[in-house]
Amino acid sequence: MVCNASCIHPTTGAAPNTFMSAIQFFATAQCLIQNKDWPPEAELHDLEEYDFIIVGAGTAGSILANRLSEIKTWNVLLLEAGGNPPIESEIPNLLRSLLGTKFDWQYTTVNNGLTNQAYKGGNVKWPRGKMLGGSGSINVMAYVQGHPLDYQSWFNEGNTEWHPDIVKQYLKKAESLQDPIRLKIPKVYNHYGHNGPLVVNAFNGTDECLVLDLLSALNEIGIKNVDDLNTADNVGSSKFIATVNEGKRVSTATAYLNPIARHRKNLKIVKNSFVTKIVLDGRSVRGVEVFYRGKMLTLKAKHEVIISAGSIDTPQLLLLSGIGPEKHLTEKNIKTVINLPMVGQNLHDHTQVPILLFADKPVKPDQATKSFESLRYLYDRQGYLASANYHDVAGFYSKDPKATYPDFQTIIFINKKNDEETIKQFASRFVKTVENSILKQSNQKFLFDFIIVGAGSAGSQIVDWNVLLLEAGGNPPVESDVSS
Ligand SMILES: Cc1cc2nc3c(=O)[nH]c(=O)nc-3n(C[C@H](O)[C@H](O)[C@H](O)COP(=O)(O)OP(=O)(O)OC[C@H]3O[C@@H](n4cnc5c(N)ncnc54)[C@H](O)[C@@H]3O)c2cc1C
Repeated sequence: MVCNASCIHPTTGAAPNTFMSAIQFFATAQCLIQNKDWPPEAELHDLEEYDFIIVGAGTAGSILANRLSEIKTWNVLLLEAGGNPPIESEIPNLLRSLLGTKFDWQYTTVNNGLTNQAYKGGNVKWPRGKMLGGSGSINVMAYVQGHPLDYQSWFNEGNTEWHPDIVKQYLKKAESLQDPIRLKIPKVYNHYGHNGPLVVNAFNGTDECLVLDLLSALNEIGIKNVDDLNTADNVGSSKFIATVNEGKRVSTATAYLNPIARHRKNLKIVKNSFVTKIVLDGRSVRGVEVFYRGKMLTLKAKHEVIISAGSIDTPQLLLLSGIGPEKHLTEKNIKTVINLPMVGQNLHDHTQVPILLFADKPVKPDQATKSFESLRYLYDRQGYLASANYHDVAGFYSKDPKATYPDFQTIIFINKKNDEETIKQFASRFVKTVENSILKQSNQKFLFDFIIVGAGSAGSQIVDWNVLLLEAGGNPPVESDVSS
């Protein structure tokens, strides 16, 4: 390679060539990040019949497809509205860049005149992944197993398969704990599974001093440090355990679909296929209607249709198929086939309250440091790109110091003083007065953004779906009205 770096003079050519070949090496190294194992394209034809049809290859659908197709005599079809995840889904710190793109369904809440009034339009964005892995390909990767008391309450309500001991058994079956520090702690080692497809590990971030400072601060205010939050039933503070492996995201699509997609003959995975309706014969499910490559196809199911389209799209599909509250369906001119009043109700989500703290100690990661960190990621998958965009630390706590069940969760985002892009992006979602106040303060100081998650909060979902959702691959203009 000939290099004409005009700033270098005199030169024999050896120095600029050395640097240019290093730059070229790193430029091509990004191609090694992209996952090459995504399932191949598959054909779909009208009136085909399968034993099981699964709608949605997200977190749940990917696992179901794998486990059902273990039975060789069952033919399983997995339908996903999105396609392969982009490279940004694999790089932990770039997850924000997926929001608002074609890999996100881009739902928003409806302005109810009461909540979210500091936000432009009085509504909040509600991201959902639209690709293999679903929201597990866009999420923050924190591996939080859930509190045994939650499962116990489901069990107590008559759901016998949700006893905490049974849940634990299945979690262990799924997991493969890889974090070298946790593996050395017997109690934590025994808590997790070791032979499952889902790798759980610590992030490969390198901001260790900051992480230790944050942990010590949480400890000081009484949110005591523990070895591992899942092992401590989510009371205390610790570094996160996450669905990451070797600096890259693990989703259930990468863990459960990719390893089998090319050789398990009884499983067909069809991307960019948008299910519009469940086909019913009386009260029995017979199949689905799917919009695929510009055509509407009907597919038949011998045994079951499993709707794993996520907490928003699952009730939506049921409603569009005439399964839901009769009054609501009548208002939307949908013929009621099965009157099920609770469809679209009882939605639970965790509400986030961003609290901004302004600290006066300036931190200035300059462009050279940032660039070096990016190269580091290309080199060994470490550095800021390998960490999540929150600072790797979580605290779960309750107002009652003796509590064994948390009321709140806190995760900590730190936007550094000269990270103007992130601060502007964060501030731009608010109405002008709030936006200006954030921008003004962050010009002088650097910005901590604490997000407190009310783990116990619940809400209800009142659906106001637009009915015709035929455009596969597009983003249907669906809105939901959420009150918390
Ligand atoms: C930004 C964000 C951050 C999060 N952070 C965390 C975290 O750190 N830790 C954690 O545990 N959880 C987190 N979550 C929540 C977690 O990701 C979800 O609870 C989980 O992924 C839901 O799984 P699911 O299978 O129910 O739905 P999804 O994973 O959303 O899968 C649904 C799939 O169905 C497809 N689909 C929908 N409609 C149709 C249709 N009509 N036809 C065909 N396909 C369809 C979708 O495209 C999608 O692929 C986060 C979620 C988001 C959005």
